[in-house]
Amino acid sequence: MKQIVIISGKGGTGKTILTASFAALAEKKVMADCDVDAADLHLILTPKIENRHLFKSGKTAVIDKDICTACGKCRDLCRFSAIDKEFVVDPVACEGCMFCSFVCPVQAIKMEENTTGEWFVSSTRFGPMVHAKLGIAEENSGKLVSLVRSKAKEIAEENNMDWVIIDGSPGIGCPVIASISGVDCALIVTEPTMSGLHDADRVIQVAKHFSVPVKMVINKYDLNLEMTEKICNYCGDNDISVAGKIGFDENVVKAMVEGKAIIEQADNETTDAIKAIWENIKKET
Ligand code: SF4
Ligand code: SF4
Repeated sequence: MKQIVIISGKGGTGKTILTASFAALAEKKVMADCDVDAADLHLILTPKIENRHLFKSGKTAVIDKDICTACGKCRDLCRFSAIDKEFVVDPVACEGCMFCSFVCPVQAIKMEENTTGEWFVSSTRFGPMVHAKLGIAEENSGKLVSLVRSKAKEIAEENNMDWVIIDGSPGIGCPVIASISGVDCALIVTEPTMSGLHDADRVIQVAKHFSVPVKMVINKYDLNLEMTEKICNYCGDNDISVAGKIGFDENVVKAMVEGKAIIEQADNETTDAIKAIWENIKKET
């Protein structure tokens, strides 16, 4: 079983369109949507949720009013001013440091786990999919990404699947590291602009740091042929293979609006290019 992640230096480069197409092309696979902060793979794959689970992360202090003697120690010592004059903890301000629970003379303070999101195992027309939703302004998406990945891997192993296809998080932060670590191939999707190359370079450095094999795809390459050449040269200089180039095609957006992968909607140069990229990955991963 191989794990492949489709990733980009920033959102909106066509990463999800490619992931959905691979989901359609690969035979025995599980999909993992690790873009937990701004998931959109579900818009194309329309998953039917089979089971849902709460995601717990971090702790918040809770004061038991029946035990509390209002001595004020916890409020005086909380560095985050998270305890008000009524001895109620503000869950947003509380950093979960547990200090108050140690200083309370009557053990009135308990630390409770926070529910910060949900994760799901779903069925789609292309096979099983694991995905998640993080609560607004919640942190620790790296931990949620790791959870989604490990569940997808478990399903793949149990069912003798050949692939785990991961829609990775954009950027270079903690969720990206959680998306790419230990995969067999990270496919970086970029567009032919200077900022596209810059963003791709940053994520490539992260991948290299974690010794993850990298391939590049240039999406909408024909919008700027000069920049496409620069990106190809960059790949040559950095020993990165270009798995393929996809031209601009308004059918891609039309397919997305209809909730379809382009591969299901059309049979043209774009779909030929995507199929060739998938063949390249199958052969070289
Ligand atoms: S756990 Fe830490 S941050 Fe939260 S209320 Fe107690 S002392 Fe303050
Ligand atoms: S330290 Fe304990 S008893 Fe004192 S105010 Fe805080 S919760 Fe109440």
